Amino acid sequence: MRPFHIKINTTMQFLPQIIRIRKAFQLTGRLLLPNVMDLDAADYLDDIDWQPDPPENYCPHCGQTVGPYTALPKGCSDCHNKRLAWDRIIRLGSYDPPLDRRIKAFKYNRQWKWSAYFGQLIARSLPRTSKSYPAIITDVPLHRNRLYKRGYNQSALLAKQIARYHNIQYRPLVRRIVNTLPQSQLPPSKRRSNVSGAFQLIHPDLDLTNTQIILVDDIKTSGSTLKQCSTLLKQAGALTVTVTVIAVADPKSYDDPEEHNIRQAIEQALQ
Ligand SMILES: [Zn+2]
Repeated sequence: MRPFHIKINTTMQFLPQIIRIRKAFQLTGRLLLPNVMDLDAADYLDDIDWQPDPPENYCPHCGQTVGPYTALPKGCSDCHNKRLAWDRIIRLGSYDPPLDRRIKAFKYNRQWKWSAYFGQLIARSLPRTSKSYPAIITDVPLHRNRLYKRGYNQSALLAKQIARYHNIQYRPLVRRIVNTLPQSQLPPSKRRSNVSGAFQLIHPDLDLTNTQIILVDDIKTSGSTLKQCSTLLKQAGALTVTVTVIAVADPKSYDDPEEHNIRQAIEQALQ
C-alpha cells in the first residue's frame, strides 16, 4: 500500500475523535471568550473612522441634535424653557447606525468589551472636573432582577472606565427599587410614570454638598430616568450633575405604534 493511502485510512479511522476534540476546543473557546468576534466587532473594525459628535452638534442641556453652533449654553429651542434636573449632558452621538447596533450588542448580547470602547470615547469628550471640589462618578442602576439576568450593568462598566481615565472615584449612589419596564419598550407618554419613585439613594443620609457628580447611562430617551436620579443627587446636595450617555434618542420617535411594536419585538428577541 502506498503512503498516500495509509494517510487517508489513518485520518478516516480517527475522524470521529478529531471532530470531538475540535468541538471541545470550540466550546472551551466560546466559554472563555464569549462573543469576542461577533458581527458587531467586525462592523467596528470596518468602521474605525467613526467619530463622536463634536459638542457644537448637540444641545449641551438636553442632548438633542442641533445645527452647528445653534444651541446656546442655556439650551436649544426644545429645552430653553424647561428646567432640567441636571446641569449638562455629554453624548457620543444620536441613537442611529452604527451606534444603535453597537449599544444593543453591548447591552443584550453579552458583548461587554464595548464598555472599553464607549468608556474611552466618553472619557475623552468629558471636560476635566474642577479641582476645587470633590467629584464622584456614578451610574444609573439596574434592578437586581435585571442585573442577575443580564449579568452586568452596562452603565456601571462605562462609569468605571471613565473613572479610571479621569482618576475620579467611582461610587454607586442610587439603587433601583422597582423593576420597571425598559423605557425603550414604552411610548414617551408612559415613561415618566414608569420610573416615578423607582429609585432611592443607597444611603438615605448621603451628603453630597459641594460635590461634582458625573451620572452615567447608556441611552437618553425621554430623560425621565436621568431626571429621577439627578433629582435625588441634587437633593443630597450635589453641586453639579453632569450626565454622560453613549447616545441620545429622539424622545418623540417611538410614539408611532407600528414602529413601537417593531422595536418591542426586536428588544424582546435580543433579551
Ligand atoms: Zn436642548
